[in-house]
Amino acid sequence: MRIDKFLAHMGYGTRKEVRKLLKAQKVEVNGVVVKDPGYNLNVDTDKVIVKGEEVKYKPFVYFMLNKPQGYVSATVDRRYPTVVDLVPFHREIFPVGRLDIDTEGLLILTDDGQLAHHLTSPKKEVEKEYYFELDKPLEEDDFSRLKAGIRLEDNYLTKPARLLGKVGDKSGTIVITEGKYHQVKRMFLALGKTVVYLKRIRIGGLILDSKLSPGEYRELTPEEISILK
Ligand code: URA
Repeated sequence: MRIDKFLAHMGYGTRKEVRKLLKAQKVEVNGVVVKDPGYNLNVDTDKVIVKGEEVKYKPFVYFMLNKPQGYVSATVDRRYPTVVDLVPFHREIFPVGRLDIDTEGLLILTDDGQLAHHLTSPKKEVEKEYYFELDKPLEEDDFSRLKAGIRLEDNYLTKPARLLGKVGDKSGTIVITEGKYHQVKRMFLALGKTVVYLKRIRIGGLILDSKLSPGEYRELTPEEISILK
């Protein structure tokens, strides 16, 4: 792989920015400064150092974002800022699945299409857990009705959902294994309740890092990536 392509792929900027970096003699390959953007690199064996730090080749990147309200889960939008605007990276990444514009919480951004498919395919039934707040208190039979599956207004019968909360409380968590449009809100609406706040806190074995404030993100660790696969 050309070194300019490699560095751009690893998030060091556009090809133009990377060429500047090379020209400024900030890049070493196996201990020797490389200035030629066309230098041919063996990504598996060559040791690349940029500004004193080793750059390991990663075929894919994975970020965990604590999505704030007001952002759409898309790569481009004409009206609203997108979640991709929050994770500046010179590689085309996309959100895995969608959260509504007013939903907060765990969103994965990656360029790994296979993992995205695995996490969003209805057949895989990957669990998604949400913290919710309602306008009315939970009732006794909400638990069993959600467990049995809810008939939505378009006649779709949802798969069993697990509700964790207390009768009389207006908040709790719900675990679902599918991701239909506005699913959690529509399930509660079918029970006569409006969701006033929604936050995703888990996807499969991956839990939202409590250190991330809304709008903040970090790369997934290798352990977190393997939990998801
Ligand atoms: N269910 C919803 O209603 N909204 C979301 O954003 C996610 C799940």
